[in-house]
Amino acid sequence: MQFHLNGFLPGDPEIADPAERILASGASGPVPDEVDVLIVGCGPAGLTLAAQLAQFPDIKTCIVEQKPGRLSVGQADGIACRTMEMFHAYGFSERVLKEAYWVNETTFWKPDERSPEKIVRSGRVQDVEDGLSEFPHVILNQARIHDGFLDVMRKSPAKLEPYYGRRLLDLHVDPAAGPTDHAVIVRLERDAANEGKVETIKARYVVGCDGARSTVRKSIGRELHGDSANHAWGVMDVLAVTDFPDIRFKVLIQSAKDGSLLIIPREGGYMVRLYVELAKLDVGERVANRNITADDVIAKAQRILAPHKLEVKEIAWWSVYEIGQRLTDKFDDVPDAEIDTRLPRIFIAGDACHTHSPKAGQGMNVSMQDAFNLGWKLAKVIRKQCAPHLLHSYSAERQAVASELIDFDREWAGILASAAKAGGADAARTQDYFVRHGRYTAGTATHYRPSVLTGATSHQHLAQGLAIGTRFHSAPVIRLADAKPVHLGHAAQADGRFRIYAFSRAEDPAAAGSAIRALCNFLTEARESPVRRYTPVGADIDSVIDLRAVFQMDHRELALEAMPALLLPRKGRYGLIDYEKIYCPDLKSGRDVFAMRGIDRKAGCMVVVRPDQYVAQVLPLNDFAALAAYFDAFMLQVN
Ligand code: FAD
Repeated sequence: MQFHLNGFLPGDPEIADPAERILASGASGPVPDEVDVLIVGCGPAGLTLAAQLAQFPDIKTCIVEQKPGRLSVGQADGIACRTMEMFHAYGFSERVLKEAYWVNETTFWKPDERSPEKIVRSGRVQDVEDGLSEFPHVILNQARIHDGFLDVMRKSPAKLEPYYGRRLLDLHVDPAAGPTDHAVIVRLERDAANEGKVETIKARYVVGCDGARSTVRKSIGRELHGDSANHAWGVMDVLAVTDFPDIRFKVLIQSAKDGSLLIIPREGGYMVRLYVELAKLDVGERVANRNITADDVIAKAQRILAPHKLEVKEIAWWSVYEIGQRLTDKFDDVPDAEIDTRLPRIFIAGDACHTHSPKAGQGMNVSMQDAFNLGWKLAKVIRKQCAPHLLHSYSAERQAVASELIDFDREWAGILASAAKAGGADAARTQDYFVRHGRYTAGTATHYRPSVLTGATSHQHLAQGLAIGTRFHSAPVIRLADAKPVHLGHAAQADGRFRIYAFSRAEDPAAAGSAIRALCNFLTEARESPVRRYTPVGADIDSVIDLRAVFQMDHRELALEAMPALLLPRKGRYGLIDYEKIYCPDLKSGRDVFAMRGIDRKAGCMVVVRPDQYVAQVLPLNDFAALAAYFDAFMLQVN
């Protein structure tokens, strides 16, 4: 898709009329008096969480934002492969794929050894290693990501809209409140158009997605710790004419004297983002004090690019951005010493907990993953499907991930800085590090440690390519009922359901003694079956735990009619049959899921996947006791 040819226009590029490209958004009237969850902040973290909770109309959610309306331009733009997988679960990956720039290759430039005032290309690499994800690394304006979530919220069962023009003033917890009460009392100040009127709202849970200067974080006494030596970077989205040949590639340029420039081509085919290294700030110094102008940023970019020319025709957005790698020690309001006796009521997510440099493209991606981790847990606790102690796992899991990513970000920033100091002489080291650490930038390096939600690795050998604690790595398969090539991981929607992928042994699944048949019998009939225990009477059989089966033979050799009833469940008002639970390998294309993901063909296995797409357990196909024990550890029996 090409757009922005005659100037940058915010909003949906498929709508011709500029006046109609940005849909109105926002709830009218006062905020509700009482809610289950109050989300503060309409950034990527807040919107990811709101879009998740909006799937449950029985949960009363409210999201507030101090700005007067939706974002239309600026801020982050890098979308990691892992984030695209999440967008698929939310239902808008196709739109992003169509509109975004795809980062397929990255090039590296350094000073010419014979004439260091000029830059020369020193390398060119594939951006994402083959097979890491079915999705590419893409670039799209943060505002369009917000639009994707706002759209999901509006179309969801809860029909959620943000309340704009509300600034969180303060919050406190009623000390006399019981565990299920609306104990957090929050004051919001409305904007000048509403005479700064103060509204009060009571919430069972408050989630501060209110950015790096988070008021919610301060209210629970937490601080961001870390690198106080900030770097100032100029960030600019421009429409420009240049003779620099790699302008449509992601490029990392290290100049001899003027620092680094990162070029990120943008959606629409013409626009480009420039990250220009400006200065290291003194301790405690704010970048605003430097009075840096857009012309300063352009002039610096032009010097780094020499001898190539850069003529900026239009600046769509620009900012001067302070970089510091910072992290808070816990992402909720419960001190470590009180974990056994107290449940969290207040959480923080995204930049409120951690800040990153834009060089590794982490900020927005990690923020959304925080919220994806928390959303289903809150939903399950509020809907009384899981025990409230599950909520402790949010901070435990995400703080560890953020800490690791900040270490990576710091190391990467250090390598760039040292290469810059050496006049670009370390270009080979920079390129090598970039390639070796691609999994961090792709967002697929996250690895949750063993916990109540994430099993031990005792049976990992049964599915070596689906590491417990990492995100379920999808693979192509053929759906049995209609021979459609699909992706196995795309069965997962952001709907709060657990999934069990049962990989069959090399045996006839129709035979009375087949392992898949035995598993289906257990799940359907046994008293200990988690499907029976945790699915409410009257609800669809797959509404809490969704069983899928993958067989080893070609789909033409399998008889649908011989499949166990649990794999062809009767659902909905008319008891219609769901035909989308059974898969076979895509043998015609040579991509056999069993080989691709290292599944033990003789033994088969069960892979349990959490609602946020992370592998929770790999178990033998007949280990029904371990399967039941996994769910019994945190779920609440409903029947
Ligand atoms: P934010 O996106 O910061 O969202 C927080 C929201 O909370 C905001 O909308 C804010 O208005 C609202 N809020 C704050 N306080 C209150 C309050 N008291 N009451 C109500 N609402 C409140 N990252 C990059 O990778 N590249 C970039 O070029 C880049 N540029 C950036 C430029 C700017 C100006 C900013 C602010 C951030 C930039 N970032 C960039 C960072 C990136 O946007 C963040 O990492 C990402 O948005 C984090 O998402 P979040 O939802 O946690 O927080």
